[in-house]
Amino acid sequence: MLRTVSYDTAPVEVCRSRPLRGHCMQNSSTIRQKGISTLKMKTREGREVELNQEKVDSWRVQLRGPAFLPGDTRYDESRTVWNGMIDRRPSIVVRCLGIADVITCVKFARDNDILLCIKGGGHNIAGLASADGALMLDMSLMRGVWVNTQNKTAHAQAGCLLGDVDRETQVHELAAVLGFVSLTGIAGLTLGGGFGYLTRRWGWTADNVVGVDIVTADARLVRASSDENTDLFWALRGGGGNFGVVTGIDYALYPVGPEIVGGVVAWPASEAPKVLELYRTLAENAPPELTLVAMMRPAPPAPWLPKDRHGTPIVALLACYSGRPEVGEKAVAPIKSFGNPLGDILVRRPYAQLQSLLDATQPKGRRYYWKSEYLPRIEPALCEKILVHAGRIRSPHSAVILFQIDGALNRLGGEHSPVGNREARYVLNLAGSWEHPDEDGVHIKWARDAWNDMRVFSTGGTYINFLTEEEVPERTGAALGKALQRLAEVKKRWDPENMFRTNHNIKPV
Ligand SMILES: Cc1cc2nc3c(=O)[nH]c(=O)nc-3n(C[C@H](O)[C@H](O)[C@H](O)COP(=O)(O)OP(=O)(O)OC[C@H]3O[C@@H](n4cnc5c(N)ncnc54)[C@H](O)[C@@H]3O)c2cc1C
Repeated sequence: MLRTVSYDTAPVEVCRSRPLRGHCMQNSSTIRQKGISTLKMKTREGREVELNQEKVDSWRVQLRGPAFLPGDTRYDESRTVWNGMIDRRPSIVVRCLGIADVITCVKFARDNDILLCIKGGGHNIAGLASADGALMLDMSLMRGVWVNTQNKTAHAQAGCLLGDVDRETQVHELAAVLGFVSLTGIAGLTLGGGFGYLTRRWGWTADNVVGVDIVTADARLVRASSDENTDLFWALRGGGGNFGVVTGIDYALYPVGPEIVGGVVAWPASEAPKVLELYRTLAENAPPELTLVAMMRPAPPAPWLPKDRHGTPIVALLACYSGRPEVGEKAVAPIKSFGNPLGDILVRRPYAQLQSLLDATQPKGRRYYWKSEYLPRIEPALCEKILVHAGRIRSPHSAVILFQIDGALNRLGGEHSPVGNREARYVLNLAGSWEHPDEDGVHIKWARDAWNDMRVFSTGGTYINFLTEEEVPERTGAALGKALQRLAEVKKRWDPENMFRTNHNIKPV
């Protein structure tokens, strides 16, 4: 059996730079150094409590990872999330360095009735990773990936970003079903469903999870899989972070790459009616290996687009053919030969490279507001609406996006896992993105108006991982549908006091 192991460099640095004990002592003396004798925190119900120094110190000396308080250099790096609209301040952040740290923190939070929040990649648009007054478990030091080439699985620690997993699995020409932006966290994406270029072949990311290691509300490490704690295993595949702190996920892997055909072709927006029609017909007949994404937005300042077109409206098709490249080249030929593109980078390339192609368009700290719906098909009338609302975009970063996801996910029954939405074939995302807070109103209104006009085309379902702060919890029902009742029962069994509540919360019943 061939196994590869990757560790992020950060934990090595932490351990090497100072002896463990000294490191912890430095942590535990921070309160004293700052002249603070108590730590103000929030309880689960939002009451303010003060924990005395002795209590906090005796907990912190048990930790291997570092802990940060407001004012510490690395506190802000942890507490901030991808969406710059979110500005929350946990009372303390612990960067867990292993499962034992997670258990220690869960015990501390449980025994002292402290609000917990968990940060994976921090990419949730609603900012669910961060909460005022909470104890934040920042998982970013737990980024190991172990690939088992014999049974074609990978075990990834819960702080991994998508790129960490792709990087290690591609060493063996294997891939897990993950998303489109390599900086997204695996934990939030997987627990909420997950889709990407391989979804048409193998289903939601959650459909391809074979096991989960999780620290539950009673501070125990538990394994959930198809033959252990099966109720929990069912719930974790779509039910989000409601059931504990996930420390590792096992994924099924499939032969993909290292080279695939993938990339983007872009045309001026004046070509959009014809390009959207091309998208509609190609997508309807595409083999499962081919995934197509259509996008309308102002041209980003990308080197492959003419400089004088940057900021002007474009229509673009993103494609990935994840099978043999020579077949892929034929499959994408109708796109490459269509009209007069402004730019074309739809080529043979490493799969891992395609997985990070969009990263630069989604930087951390910008302001983001999304509205999204699942669609059963692309109707010509929807394309007309897309043209109208793309024409009303007022930010250089906003976009209307159509993701194709039909295929394997449609073949499983609704009860398979709470991610559900088995009739969804496309995802419509109205992605508002801008720089300045004083423009919030304009861009939020754009996304809302477009959504109000287009939601008539929806299956009625929506992607839980794309819900904004304002939509929580109202639209959780639209995302989880009939699974909600069963999820609430599992929640009661595993987290009766609703300790894990900084998420799309499911109340125990
Ligand atoms: C730029 C961008 C691109 C995206 N692309 C895709 C895509 O292609 N496909 C797709 O399906 N989705 C995509 N998403 C949505 C993505 O799935 C969600 O934003 C997801 O929540 C991100 O996971 P995270 O770990 O980064 O989240 P975080 O913000 O860290 O956490 C989100 C939620 O997950 C919980 N959580 C995190 N870690 C754990 C853990 N270890 N144990 C228990 N609960 C935990 C948190 O408590 C929180 O409730 C994208 C998002 C962004 C911002």
